[in-house]
Amino acid sequence: MTTKPSVLPLLLAVTAAQRPEIFHSLQGEGPHLGRPSVFVRFSECNLTCHWCDTPYTWNWQERGHEHENHKRYDKALEQVTLDVAQLAAEIRSFPCQNLVLTGGEPMLQQKRIVPVLEQLRGETDAPWYVDLETNGTVLPAASFDRYVSCYVVSPKLSNAKVDERQRIKAEAMTWFANSPKAFFKFVVGDESDLVEIKALVERFNIQQDKVFLLPKASTLEELEANQAVVANMSLQAGYRFSDRLHLRLYGRKRGF
Ligand code: SF4
Repeated sequence: MTTKPSVLPLLLAVTAAQRPEIFHSLQGEGPHLGRPSVFVRFSECNLTCHWCDTPYTWNWQERGHEHENHKRYDKALEQVTLDVAQLAAEIRSFPCQNLVLTGGEPMLQQKRIVPVLEQLRGETDAPWYVDLETNGTVLPAASFDRYVSCYVVSPKLSNAKVDERQRIKAEAMTWFANSPKAFFKFVVGDESDLVEIKALVERFNIQQDKVFLLPKASTLEELEANQAVVANMSLQAGYRFSDRLHLRLYGRKRGF
């Protein structure tokens, strides 16, 4: 199959170097916690979670959404476009073949990501391991799915303050629940979150062993305050517990 160059909106990190947010780090959460990986943070999202920890991927000044941090972002500063060849070159500049596609919501750009993955796969005999982090609202196309090794699905609960009809899409959730490649990751603040999680697990018949609970935290202090309670919830409910390693290692720094 031939590939044509296309344009990918990617996130531009506000660092001194003003570079796209493509970086080499350790996976901080979920089934591959601790795995060295190349991360690509895609811009734009189809949800507006009140507590979103990456609002600089979508909460533009002109959008007028009231996030809990009361900030809005300049799209011209926070977003950059790269074509297929540029993005593939950025990814392979790191000595690592584990790739994490994150956001924002990367599934919004799945058609444009396919030729990038095609190009990477065509360049080397060594296999790429591709993790896709998603909010679980968009159905993967077969042409995209063939390149994904693992989906890490993070459905949003009512604490996101987004209408349930937007944040829970039954067709997509059913697809992910039936995919042998999918894991589910939920951020837990309190007992009422756990009640919602159990209802979703039951409704979509998700295997218990594929469910991870993460303490809600945006600082190390919050993580340390909440981790024991959420670890106990995991134990009682039969779900897995995930740490948030990047908070321990890097705090809230972007691009790590
Ligand atoms: S789905 Fe994720 S990236 Fe999008 S608004 Fe919610 S937390 Fe933020």
